[in-house]
Amino acid sequence: MKRFFVKIPLAGFALLHVSLAGAQIDAGKFVADTVADVPPSVSLLSMIPDRECLDAAVLSIDSAYSAKVISFLADDALEGREAGTRGGARAAEFIVSELSKYGIGPCGSDYFRYFEAIRLNGVSRAVYMVKGRDDRSVPEKGRIGDTLKLRNVLAMIEGVRKDEFVIVGAHYDHLGTDPDLEGDNIYNGADDNASGVSAVLQIARAFSMMEKPERTVIFAFWDGEEKGLLGSKFFVENVRSGLDSLIADISMVKGYMNFDMIGGNNKPDVPEHFVYFYTASEKRYEDWMTGGIERYSLELAPDIRAWDYPAGGSDNTYFAKYGVPVIWYHTDAHPYYHRPSDHADKVNMSKVVDISRLSFMTFYCMANENL
Ligand SMILES: [Zn+2]
Repeated sequence: MKRFFVKIPLAGFALLHVSLAGAQIDAGKFVADTVADVPPSVSLLSMIPDRECLDAAVLSIDSAYSAKVISFLADDALEGREAGTRGGARAAEFIVSELSKYGIGPCGSDYFRYFEAIRLNGVSRAVYMVKGRDDRSVPEKGRIGDTLKLRNVLAMIEGVRKDEFVIVGAHYDHLGTDPDLEGDNIYNGADDNASGVSAVLQIARAFSMMEKPERTVIFAFWDGEEKGLLGSKFFVENVRSGLDSLIADISMVKGYMNFDMIGGNNKPDVPEHFVYFYTASEKRYEDWMTGGIERYSLELAPDIRAWDYPAGGSDNTYFAKYGVPVIWYHTDAHPYYHRPSDHADKVNMSKVVDISRLSFMTFYCMANENL
């Protein structure tokens, strides 16, 4: 437990007590008493020298913090967090204030990575392109309809290896408001994707308790996903174009983990259901996940979908397109998908917490494994 204690700031001492099944338990004691033997399939875990530290960090992920993040982001005051609006900016500022609390600095000189997206005249309201990062986005003068000013939020914990990166991300934008709707006209987006943002923040907080990882870890909060995967596309295309100040080549990105909607109950009779997409050639991604469910007795039933090419649907797309191995946690669509009724009180909070714990463990493996 020594290394676990070393890095915890005074204000973080409450984290030493984790809540499980409603009881406050000392994390170290809980680990010693109740964590099961390592399943044989998880050979990597048996090689991790700091096992008690890892267990305590997993168990520091709690429902109170998930609920705080989701209820803030999905509040009516954020007006549906549409990209380029006041509500979107407030969401980004909230994420930065949380990262700062845990001593996690920006990726570069500023947490915010600004970029612009444009829509051409005569094109559907929904279709935007990343300015300067898209072959089609050099339009003739006068063809630009409107321009959105967007920002990703990127934070980083430097690893032992400064030339290898793993990235965990979720989009924080949603659909905004629709003045033409009667009654509730705010798309709160609690599941889509405040739930995913809560997981990335939980993982960041848990990483802040650990020793320096082997690889450099980036925590990404994408803007503009709902308008065409704009934030993740901008990031990946920047790296590909040699314009990123930190990552010289996309081959330096060793893995990307994505969250988009992790609190839904697609199958009400199977609340443990979730979908686990991953790049099929990376079989160990599946072993880490199944081993983690067993080790931490998580109430999760994975629908495992190994894809040769896991592009499409969310911010994993541009990473997969350029050969970065991907994991994507998701709980499927539901009747309130992309409706104003995607409210915080519908989120299955215990599933969000269990997925956050599991994904922290799988991401820890991604950051520390010996390739
Ligand atoms: Zn989404």
